[in-house]
Amino acid sequence: MKIMAVNAGSSSLKFQLLDMPKETKLVSGVVERIGLQDSIFSMKFNGETHKEIKNIKNHSQAVQMLLSKLVSLHIVSSLDEIQGVGHRVVHGGEMFHDSVIIDDEVIASIESVNDLAPLHNPANITGIKAFKEALPNVPAIAVFDTAFHQTMEPVAYMYSVPYEWYTKYGVRKYGFHGTSHKYVSLRAAAMLDKPLNQTKVIVCHIGNGASLCAVKYGKSMDTSMGFTPLAGIAMGTRSGDIDPAIVQFISEKENKSLDEVISELNKKSGYLGLSGLSSDSRDLWEAVERGDKKSILAVEKQAKMIADYIGAYYLMLGGCDAICFTAGIGENASETRKLVVDRLGALGVELDYEQNLTRGKETVISKPSSNIKLLLIPTNEEVMIARDTLELIG
Ligand code: AMP
Repeated sequence: MKIMAVNAGSSSLKFQLLDMPKETKLVSGVVERIGLQDSIFSMKFNGETHKEIKNIKNHSQAVQMLLSKLVSLHIVSSLDEIQGVGHRVVHGGEMFHDSVIIDDEVIASIESVNDLAPLHNPANITGIKAFKEALPNVPAIAVFDTAFHQTMEPVAYMYSVPYEWYTKYGVRKYGFHGTSHKYVSLRAAAMLDKPLNQTKVIVCHIGNGASLCAVKYGKSMDTSMGFTPLAGIAMGTRSGDIDPAIVQFISEKENKSLDEVISELNKKSGYLGLSGLSSDSRDLWEAVERGDKKSILAVEKQAKMIADYIGAYYLMLGGCDAICFTAGIGENASETRKLVVDRLGALGVELDYEQNLTRGKETVISKPSSNIKLLLIPTNEEVMIARDTLELIG
């Protein structure tokens, strides 16, 4: 059975067609610059990349183009072969604890939390509607970034602020990257050869966006992102945790609106802000090699924040079996993994420096004598989306 996993952004559409339940990837690709001049359609299939540049007006047109390519390249003999479409949806508020089959009521519920994810949810809905228009009889499923974290208890998700902020406006920690944290914790249990319901792990999803998650017996107990993805550890362009009073202080000093200051915390901070060079980990490590002091500070600051969260989650979980690294940086930047693990000596964690040079492949990167296993686990959100889709339409 063929299932499409979709991640729609405001001007982009990422897709992957999977053969289920084998979980094999048939094609993957992305349409970028939708609605702008010279949109880019690119699709990987059979080791080749098919690229086309033309104006693609909207998501509906992008979906039409994708579907007709699947037929013209004989990836499917007819569109009837696609039996389900799974959509990544960023915010499910407190309503969605799991993936669901999309109907009008679900769309209305997703729209009702649009103000919690004003950039993402409307874009996700655009993707859902575009596929519904093109494949009206194919069931569509929503897989929420927030759902996995709905198992957190109030002591983890409540902020210590006036309680009415929560009851009136839903101000609480929601957490994100849930699909990735869930996938990695499942793989970790398999690598540890332990039942999931006896496994405690800390997942470090470190990509351009980054968050940690404490997972006990398969359930999220706490996570570092918060009400929005701005909280937690320093990221490519996001600050992570800061004293909130800085917002007002900078707004007054620089004569900027709150919107502008928050935008700088989202788009001009983290790696980019401290280094003044780049938000990309590869650029930073090149600069570190040259001895660039601000880049050294940027990567060390992030590693300290990651290690501090690991320490807190280790205590909260009452110990753990494994610490897992995933996403662009976690899977590839052995330098960052080393910086983090160097700070974990008190936990009796020992890195295997040879194994740590591995990139992008499931690997145990700790020494056998290490108190806690260190695992490199490439994430796979598309497989999770396809699994949930298969289960719900099954
Ligand atoms: P993601 O958001 O998960 O796609 O991760 C993006 C981040 O991963 C960027 O900072 C990239 O520089 C980083 N990244 C990807 N590949 C590598 C690599 N081979 N070495 C170091 N960093 C990498």
